[in-house]
Amino acid sequence: MNIGVDVDGVLADLMPGTLEVIKKRTGVDVDIDEYGSWTYLQDNFGFSTEEVLGYMDLAWFSGLVTMLEPGISEHISRMRRAGHLITIITQRTRPTHAASTTWLQENCIPYDALVFNDGCNGLTKLDYPIDVLIDDSPYLAKEMAKYPDKTLYSLKQPWNDPGPCQDNVTHVASVAEALELIERSL
Ligand SMILES: [Mg+2]
Repeated sequence: MNIGVDVDGVLADLMPGTLEVIKKRTGVDVDIDEYGSWTYLQDNFGFSTEEVLGYMDLAWFSGLVTMLEPGISEHISRMRRAGHLITIITQRTRPTHAASTTWLQENCIPYDALVFNDGCNGLTKLDYPIDVLIDDSPYLAKEMAKYPDKTLYSLKQPWNDPGPCQDNVTHVASVAEALELIERSL
């Protein structure tokens, strides 16, 4: 099975670092416990999406990104030893491709393919040759009717509330849980 795994919000804990950058740069102090939607910063603080992406990039450049599940690299390695392919698939911006690739290496995340998909080519992550995807986007969950042969493991995050979903969307509390469900489904 080819397993797609997202980076921001799935492997990588980006928000604390992003909020730290925002506080330092703008003085705006955002309570992370209040961060409850995909466009929280735009809706509540007037930042543009470009500005938010820029602050996220600065968090990447500043080494403020940590692992969400520190033990996950061994779990992913085990899936590869069992014959699965791992495709890391991310919308990370072009300036952060090097930083995020280095981060994956430093955190010993093994993979067979690394895809940077900024969406400009009109493709979603689900258009790539993966069987399942582990992701934290509420928008992808709404796209799953178009991909009946694929499964989305939608990672629970404060900003990921996709509402009612297709049968091929499974909500999970962790990447480890998603990988265990994938193993059990075979
Ligand atoms: Mg994500």
